[in-house]
Amino acid sequence: MGDVLLLSDPRCLRHETPPDHPERPERLRAISEAVGASGLADHLRDIPDVAAIDRALLETVHRPEYIEAVARTGRDGGGYLDPDTFVGPASFEAGLAAAGAAVHAADAVAAGRAEAAFAVVRPPGHHALPGRGMGFCLFNNVALATVAARDRHGLHRIMIVDWDVHHGNGTQEIFYRDPTVLYVSTHQENWYPGTGHVEEVGAAEGEGFTVNIPLPPQTGDGGYRLVFEEVLVPLASAFLPDLVLISAGYDAHFADALSAMLVTAGGFRTLAELVVDAARRGAGRVVAVLEGGYDLPGLATSVVATLEVLTRQTARQAPPTHRFEEVPYPVIRDRIRRARSIALNYWRI
Ligand SMILES: [Zn+2]
Repeated sequence: MGDVLLLSDPRCLRHETPPDHPERPERLRAISEAVGASGLADHLRDIPDVAAIDRALLETVHRPEYIEAVARTGRDGGGYLDPDTFVGPASFEAGLAAAGAAVHAADAVAAGRAEAAFAVVRPPGHHALPGRGMGFCLFNNVALATVAARDRHGLHRIMIVDWDVHHGNGTQEIFYRDPTVLYVSTHQENWYPGTGHVEEVGAAEGEGFTVNIPLPPQTGDGGYRLVFEEVLVPLASAFLPDLVLISAGYDAHFADALSAMLVTAGGFRTLAELVVDAARRGAGRVVAVLEGGYDLPGLATSVVATLEVLTRQTARQAPPTHRFEEVPYPVIRDRIRRARSIALNYWRI
């Protein structure tokens, strides 16, 4: 115990995207450099390569014909799965390695071999559906880690906190009828991929186990903090998670070109603190899996800020701070009220 794992894999760098594509290998290099300069590396156990995910586990989430289609597209020299989502010759292997790292992270934390873990991987995963990749995502890393933690370790209350600025439609769909997984997403409203309305709450036995909190543009550190304090932490107190997985996207950062949010690296540190607080309402286990985040300095400083929380250490350089004119709190409070009033149908929060 006491160890925090940092998982990465060189195969994740070999997933090449076309020029000017925001989801590029430099993202991982920027993170690696920033972690190296942060002084936190002494407090992290580096796992620089991992076993690729095994096929049987991959098929618990993804359809065999889709898996084959990704492999074939790469073998044939590359191509697009949708206008945003490119598969190059090395992308299939990168996808298997990314999912493998997420699964390894969940395995280690679920088994008590590590206190917490962060899988710094690409391609990202939360838009990936069982039979279709989209939104830069090939395989749903966080969903696969969830299934591994449940099926291999018997954890039956898994909370996924998806703070990527886009709604994780893939993750939501995979667990929509599943009461063992509480999926909670904050995202920019009326934004890609168009799902994640507050009324989407899950179905059948999973009704109430999907919680969506769409937020207006210009939500910043203060607004996000309110949402996490007033919705996320109370939900964790009611659900008592065995494990909390973070779909850790950093595209709500103020400098990110793919959103209109105003979160700073210091803001992400606060969100990480609140997720750790939420996890402690249950078994205290936390695993982060990288999703989006396309402004390289914003991404790198925000990952370091998250690692400060997981390691309970302070980086050599404090995350840069900025003050913004955020969307007024009454607007955020309105969103919180709507999310809470729906969640109250299912949870004592
Ligand atoms: Zn995103």
